[in-house]
Amino acid sequence: MSFEAVIGLEVHVQLLTASKMFCRCPNVFGAEPNTLICPVCLGYPGTLPVANRQAVDLATTLALALGCTVKEHSVFARKNYFYPDLPKGYQISQFDQPLAEGGSLALTGEDARIRIHRLHLEEDAGKLLHEVPGGRPLPGQSLVDFNRCGVPLVEIVSEPDLRSAEQAQDYLQTLHQVLLYTRTSDGNMEEGSLRCDANVSLRPRGEQRLGTKAEVKNLNSFRNVARAIQYEIQRQTRILEAGQVVAPETRSFEAGEGVTRTLRGKEEAHDYRYFPDPDLPPLQLTKERLATLVAQLPELPWTRRRRFAEQYGLSAIDARELTSARELAEYFESAVALLPGAAKAVANWIVNEVRRELKERRSEVREALPVERLVALVAMVERGELSSSAAKEVFTAIWTSGENPQAAVDRLGLRQVSDESQIQQWADSTVAAFPAQAEQYRSGKAQVLGFLVGQAMKRSSGSAQPAAVQAALQKSLGPLPS
Ligand code: ADP
Ligand code: MG
Ligand code: ZN
Repeated sequence: MSFEAVIGLEVHVQLLTASKMFCRCPNVFGAEPNTLICPVCLGYPGTLPVANRQAVDLATTLALALGCTVKEHSVFARKNYFYPDLPKGYQISQFDQPLAEGGSLALTGEDARIRIHRLHLEEDAGKLLHEVPGGRPLPGQSLVDFNRCGVPLVEIVSEPDLRSAEQAQDYLQTLHQVLLYTRTSDGNMEEGSLRCDANVSLRPRGEQRLGTKAEVKNLNSFRNVARAIQYEIQRQTRILEAGQVVAPETRSFEAGEGVTRTLRGKEEAHDYRYFPDPDLPPLQLTKERLATLVAQLPELPWTRRRRFAEQYGLSAIDARELTSARELAEYFESAVALLPGAAKAVANWIVNEVRRELKERRSEVREALPVERLVALVAMVERGELSSSAAKEVFTAIWTSGENPQAAVDRLGLRQVSDESQIQQWADSTVAAFPAQAEQYRSGKAQVLGFLVGQAMKRSSGSAQPAAVQAALQKSLGPLPS
């Protein structure tokens, strides 16, 4: 029997706020354990939480970017469970009245839209360490770092619309792009700013009803999301093919071995004894505040991609590459503004050379060659003053030297010679130096011309335009016999 995979993702995103969700502790990564804590985020009796306005704004912005319906009225609820990283004994989350519902995300290059079920605000828990920071093992013991307790999170729950590991990875990468465009999160997966639980089930092809799912917890890289889902699909296929049933359970992914393992049976909502948090008033968003956030939404990647293709006549691929990151798209637009007639050339330079250089130097877009100098260089190529290979040399040279391209071109002796008599001289001396090849050419072996062009270019130290050299050689060699 052939099965279809059905996948829904629950994604946790750390918001890029200055302070935590319900107290004034700083929201920063990497501090000494247990230095960013206070009586509120440790849940001391008698303390009271106050919702962080910036977190609400960022969560709302993200919800709007995903096309969700944002509720003017939502409710914080306590999700009760015991775990050593949760000092209060409950997590403040949202339950039956979340901040936002609905919405969708389009996958790359597909018409498929993955529907979003809901988006809500909550707080993070602390972190258990099973070895001493630095790597010394701690057999039989765990340490707890409460710094992350109370860090603002948004949870985004998709509908079970994904059908493969590749689609799930694509969804997550697209979501990651939206986080960076909206500047709502740093999206740093290594630091845990973006974590994902994957719900996976199978059903016979053609069946409408959903199969029993397993939930794989806490996947922390794009690659591991895909690997865990692939493994689950294989595991569940074997179970169903053997005529057995999939257990509804929560599983962990062991990245080293590439397998998932049973953690516990599936918990149900009623296990958590959700109830509205009596310490927090309902979250009210005024119409004015919503309207302000709507007005402040940046142009989103899919809109920008379409605009770039239309406005600048770019190929779909270039438009996609240039809008992959907001900073890169802005770099492109500020360059084109300086050289409006050459959008395609500028796009080419950025997609190929600038990105390669950034990658090699492991640099951010803000560290790239300033657009004024990039544009000056592209303009020289466009005017025929510089061959494109020479331009690449100049480009690498001026990235860090701070020179302007004209100065570098002169220093490196790369200015393209367009003086016809000079070029003719190189052509004539080449023909004189290679009489055998010249003879071959004249007797009809036209391919020899390529060799002679190469030799003449050498004489010019690469400063001549190959097309001009070819014309000069043809003049020097005389017409081909017909
Ligand atoms: P639970 O109550 O078990 O957490 P939810 O209905 O809240 O389940 O859904 C959690 C996530 O699991 C959502 O992303 C949803 O799309 C996905 N999901 C629900 N049922 C299935 C299923 N049968 N197979 C795969 N994913 C599912
Ligand atoms: Mg769940
Ligand atoms: Zn605190």
